[in-house]
Amino acid sequence: MSPAAPLPALVEGVRSGHRATLARAITLVESRKPAHRLLAAELLQALLPQTGHAIRVGITGVPGVGKSTTIDSLGSHLIAQGHKVAVLAVDPSSSRTGGSILGDKTRMGRLALEERAFIRPSPAAGTLGGVAARTRETMLLCEAAGYDVVLVETVGVGQSETAVADMTDTFLVLMLPGAGDELQGIKKGIIELADIVAVNKADGANLARARAAAGEYRGALHVLGGRESFWSTPVLTYSGLTGEGVEALWAKVLEHRNRSEAAGALSARRSAQQVKWMWTLFDERVRERMRAEPALRARLPSIEHAVAAGSLSPTLGAAKIADLFGWKDL
Ligand code: GDP
Repeated sequence: MSPAAPLPALVEGVRSGHRATLARAITLVESRKPAHRLLAAELLQALLPQTGHAIRVGITGVPGVGKSTTIDSLGSHLIAQGHKVAVLAVDPSSSRTGGSILGDKTRMGRLALEERAFIRPSPAAGTLGGVAARTRETMLLCEAAGYDVVLVETVGVGQSETAVADMTDTFLVLMLPGAGDELQGIKKGIIELADIVAVNKADGANLARARAAAGEYRGALHVLGGRESFWSTPVLTYSGLTGEGVEALWAKVLEHRNRSEAAGALSARRSAQQVKWMWTLFDERVRERMRAEPALRARLPSIEHAVAAGSLSPTLGAAKIADLFGWKDL
């Protein structure tokens, strides 16, 4: 079956949780070919009633913090509890480095062997908006295939955390033990996005430093205030390596989800995400369309040059581009 297999076969295959069909469906939503795109849109529309039921968790942290170790440990724990776990990734740098790093099966050795786990690396090409849109669609496909927990991982690069926070219900920020320097290094924006902060590597000789770091993060969070009125961001310590504290971490995720649901915030968050997603797609499509039209594309370099040289203001440059679409007075 090619990615462009007939729609009913794809719908049926995904719904029945057939892994190879799910993989093909994902290849389809990642494709930029117009025919594939149309089929992908129909597929997602057909599967819509089966989506939205998963617990969607975003996970971020600097390289080396232990994301893959944590996902391996947490994912295995969840599978032992009877869940089906999908692991996805948003890595906008992967197109630059030539290969997708996050979500790699080799980084999650235990989980990769599980029949009830599905690990998919980041879509490799495109802008952050494009990569995030593909990941979001992949998440829907996984939900339709019966995965009831979706873990979306990202590194702390650019705006990728915001993109992942915008597609998940609970956003988990992983930190390293050792306060002081690390505390100085936290991006304020990331902490503000966090629903849960978790200091990893709280084991062996690191234990005291991990606890000290957690104390400092608690202080910082107290000053910054939380993301939602019904929730004040907790700071936990755990070890992805030994598994100590991983169960408590998941319990916090569930507590956040339950409280968020009870406060009506979960559905509000998902609704706001849907609308934001629509506009992101619209922006992306407009830009793609513009670049795909030779007559329009031919006019862009001179406008860009004039703006770069300072002879045309960005405001007038944007108006000139809008004018190419026939939109006056933008
Ligand atoms: P990622 O880049 O965020 O995915 O980090 P990895 O999961 O690849 O972990 C980076 C390194 O930290 C590896 O050498 C891990 O073995 C180690 N590591 C991860 N979690 C823990 C932990 O809980 N305790 C200790 N001591 N080491 C850990």
